[in-house]
Amino acid sequence: MTTRSEASATTPPPHRTPPESGRFRARLLTGVLRPRTPGEVADEVRAAAAHGGPPLHPVSTGRNWGLGSRSPVRDDTTLLDLAALDRVRDVDTERGYAVIEPGVTQGALAALLQGTARILNPTGASQHTSVIGNLLERGVGLHRGRADDLAGLEAVLADGTVVRTGWWPDGGGAAVVQPHGRGPSLNHLLTQSHLAAVTAAVVRLLPRPATVRVLPLTFAPHRLAEAVDVLRTWTAQHLVPPNTKVYDPVAARTYGVEARYLVHLGLTGDEELVDARARLIAGRAASPGSPFAEAGADAADAYVQRAYAGTPDPDDTLFLRKTGHGAHQLDEARGLLMFLPVVSFRGDAVRRAADRIAAALSGTTAPPGVTLNVLDADTVDHVVTLGFAARDPDAVRDAHRTLDRLHASFAEEGWHPYRPDIDHPAPRSPDDALRHRLEHALDPAGVFARSRY
Ligand SMILES: Cc1cc2nc3c(=O)[nH]c(=O)nc-3n(C[C@H](O)[C@H](O)[C@H](O)COP(=O)(O)OP(=O)(O)OC[C@H]3O[C@@H](n4cnc5c(N)ncnc54)[C@H](O)[C@@H]3O)c2cc1C
Repeated sequence: MTTRSEASATTPPPHRTPPESGRFRARLLTGVLRPRTPGEVADEVRAAAAHGGPPLHPVSTGRNWGLGSRSPVRDDTTLLDLAALDRVRDVDTERGYAVIEPGVTQGALAALLQGTARILNPTGASQHTSVIGNLLERGVGLHRGRADDLAGLEAVLADGTVVRTGWWPDGGGAAVVQPHGRGPSLNHLLTQSHLAAVTAAVVRLLPRPATVRVLPLTFAPHRLAEAVDVLRTWTAQHLVPPNTKVYDPVAARTYGVEARYLVHLGLTGDEELVDARARLIAGRAASPGSPFAEAGADAADAYVQRAYAGTPDPDDTLFLRKTGHGAHQLDEARGLLMFLPVVSFRGDAVRRAADRIAAALSGTTAPPGVTLNVLDADTVDHVVTLGFAARDPDAVRDAHRTLDRLHASFAEEGWHPYRPDIDHPAPRSPDDALRHRLEHALDPAGVFARSRY
């Protein structure tokens, strides 16, 4: 059996977490473990369970920017860094899945799928972020929520046993990918969870669309409520798919649009259908009384089109435009906090959300960039990105005050974040009692650190 010291590269304890983009209070780490194989992960978990030592906090690539990056919620935690597990174990473009490990980035998987009949559902984050890390957060891809991409998980439980959930190609189950299988569906017991270290996932791949066209529209800030109501109708009636992004005037600057909101309508599929939809939308946008204007092609340039097409970009162009830094520098270089509330997809609600964001700004904090991700005809998640000077203590203090005020203000409406940060763990939920029973059954000794969830 592999011994603990052979199994992982470690750094000497104790030390504080290095600066991350949110500039949350640095947490005290008791060590960092870097296993390279699932077997080594199981050895580490068993050792932690046997010694009753500090709890483990698993991360994939640790690029959860704005929410704490790789930092745990509590002090005296050991980081279980799984980035070295970076094998793509299997890709099946016929049945539409890839079996990947936590260190596989979206850039790496997209590169592997080039020229095939499938694409990954990419996010707007860096090419260097983990597919599994984002999936376990139930992040938002350009085509759909990442939770919909999950078919199966392989994980090490607190007693060191390796289990699988959902659908696996070699599990003796159905020949066709069926994430929920039969009976209780267990995949999401392990997403937004702290019950296991995930060592692999079966990730569903989308059929490569024949045509991809991202249509940019703009509208004036004073027509926000009206524009949102129109977009909701278009979504509810299937004129546009439920993946629209709306950038407020701060976020829209990334795409060269000044002083207006920018909408990206991501149309994909059969060429004639995309053409027909684009014509219909252009007609509606140009009709009398419409809040919308067509934007120039630069507002959804070739990089945007390629992102929706799942084409890898080794230069991470869009991410550099958005943040001004590469993935490897961002934590050190840039102050950035994220607030991710889910708001109802109604003009008056989105207007109130914008007013609440403006009212929450504290001291030197600049107006944030806000992106609205349509999730379905009733729901829109807000990505509120607070940028600040990471080396200026006053700016850091003010940004955190603003974040606290955003949490308090949106809670008054019942608009809670779908992903919390390390200083604002998730509020109580109706299934707390069942969750605690499951936690007690699966990890009674707290081998895994209690997380943001
Ligand atoms: C400019 C910009 C754009 C962004 N765009 C998007 C976007 O479009 N959509 C979106 O969803 N996010 C977006 N993000 C947010 C963020 O960067 C991503 O969500 C990122 O993918 C998460 O980091 P990661 O992949 O390294 O996951 P990690 O940080 O490794 O993991 C995230 C969390 O999941 C859990 N976890 C991870 N791995 C494991 C494991 N193996 N076992 C058990 N638990 C685990 C842990 O709780 C961990 O904290 C954006 C960020 C920026 C700065």
